[in-house]
Amino acid sequence: MSHYKTTLPDEAATQALGKSLAHTLVPGLVIFLHGDLGAGKTALTRAMIHAAGFTGNVKSPTYTLAEPYQVKIRSQTTTIMHFDLYRMLSAEEFLDAGFREEFNASNICIVEWPEKADGVLPEPDLNVFLSVAGDGREVELQALSAKGIACLASLQFAPNL
Ligand code: ADP
Ligand code: MG
Repeated sequence: MSHYKTTLPDEAATQALGKSLAHTLVPGLVIFLHGDLGAGKTALTRAMIHAAGFTGNVKSPTYTLAEPYQVKIRSQTTTIMHFDLYRMLSAEEFLDAGFREEFNASNICIVEWPEKADGVLPEPDLNVFLSVAGDGREVELQALSAKGIACLASLQFAPNL
C-alpha cells in the first residue's frame, strides 16, 4: 500500500489516526506534514508522540522550530524530533542550527512546513496532506520509500482504524 486517504470527522478521529500511526513508527523514519494553518498537523503529531509514550506537554515548536521527545519504540529509547519550520527565514538557518544532523538512522523526524527548508531536507518516507473539509478534516498519506510503504501496510492492522 503506498497511498491511504480518509476523512477525520472530528478531533478524536485525528487523535485515533495519530495513535495508529505511532504504532508504525520505526527509527530513521521521516514524515512531512502538509496543510494550511489549523489543518491539524500539530494535533496529529501530538497524538503520535503521546501514543509513543511521552507523558508531558507537547506544544507547537513555533518559535524554537524543533522540539525533541524521548519515547520508547519497540522497547528502544528513541528521539522523535518535531519540527515546525513555518517561521524559519532561510535554509541556512536550518543548517546553522544543526537540524540536518537530526535526520539520521536513529531519530524519527516529523516536519511541519517542510517546504520552508526546500533543498536541505532529505526525502521523506511519508507525506501527510491534511485539509479542512466541512467541520472535519481530510487526510491523505503517501508512502515514498520501502520504509514508508511498510508503515502504511502496518497502519491497516493498527487497532484504531
Ligand atoms: P496546524 O498545526 O496544522 O496549524 P493545529 O493542529 O495546531 O493545526 O490545529 C488544528 C485545529 O483543528 C485544532 O484546534 C484542533 O482541535 C482542530 N482539529 C484537529 N483535527 C480535527 C478534525 N479532524 N476535525 C475538526 N477539528 C480538528
Ligand atoms: Mg502546527
